[in-house]
Amino acid sequence: MIRPQSPSQHSLLVVEDEQDLLEVLRFSLDKEGFSVRTAGNGEDAIRLVREQRPDLIVLDLMLPTIDGLAVCRAIRSTEKTRDIPIVMLTARGEEADIVRGLEAGADDYVTKPFSPKILIARIHAVLRRSTSVGEGIVEVGRVRLNPERHEVVADDKRVDLTATEFSLLKLLMTKPGRVYTRQQIIDSLHDGFAAVTDRSVDVQVVSLRRKLGTAGERVQTVRGVGYRFGE
Ligand code: CA
Repeated sequence: MIRPQSPSQHSLLVVEDEQDLLEVLRFSLDKEGFSVRTAGNGEDAIRLVREQRPDLIVLDLMLPTIDGLAVCRAIRSTEKTRDIPIVMLTARGEEADIVRGLEAGADDYVTKPFSPKILIARIHAVLRRSTSVGEGIVEVGRVRLNPERHEVVADDKRVDLTATEFSLLKLLMTKPGRVYTRQQIIDSLHDGFAAVTDRSVDVQVVSLRRKLGTAGERVQTVRGVGYRFGE
C-alpha cells in the first residue's frame, strides 16, 4: 500500500547498525505514519542529516567507528542542524551512557530492549515539546508558571520560590518529561548564581518539592541520571 504523503507527516532519520532492529523500527515507524530514512553508521547519519533535515533523529549510541555521542555532538555543533530533536537508544543499565548522551545534546532516550510502541510514544512526546517551547505561561497538571510575573501557582495556591528554585522549575516545566542531568541543571542555573554543585541541585529539588506540596510529586528523580517534570 502506498501511503499518501500528508503535509503534517513528520520525517525521521533512524540510525542503528543492527540490521534486524533497523528493519523492525523502519516497519513500525512507517506504519505509524512517519516518513522514515535510515542509516547504518554515524558517517551516513551525519551526511543524511545535512542533505535533508529530518524532524527528529532516532540515534543508537553504540555504532561502529563514529559512535552515537560523536554523531550527536556533530549535529549539535552545526548551526543548521543544532535544534533537531534527538531520541537516543542505549543499552539497559548504562546510566553513565544516558548521562553522557543527554549532555551531548540528546533530548530523550529509550533503553534496549524496548517495544516500538514505547519508542513511538517517546517520539511523539519529544515532537510535541519541541514545538511548544516559548516564553509564555507554562501549565502542567496543577502547576502554572508565569515567567513574566515570576509567579508560580500550584493547586490554586501561590507558591513563594527563591530565584534559583524558580529557574530550576522553569527549566524542568518548559519541557515536561524531558530528563535533565545535574550538570545540565547546573549549567542552566549558573548564570547569575555562584557555585552551584551536584549537591546543591539536590537540595534545591528537595526544597522545590516541599514548597509545591502535593504537586511536588511531579518533580521526579530519574535514578542515576537526573531530574524531570512529569507530564
Ligand atoms: Ca548498535
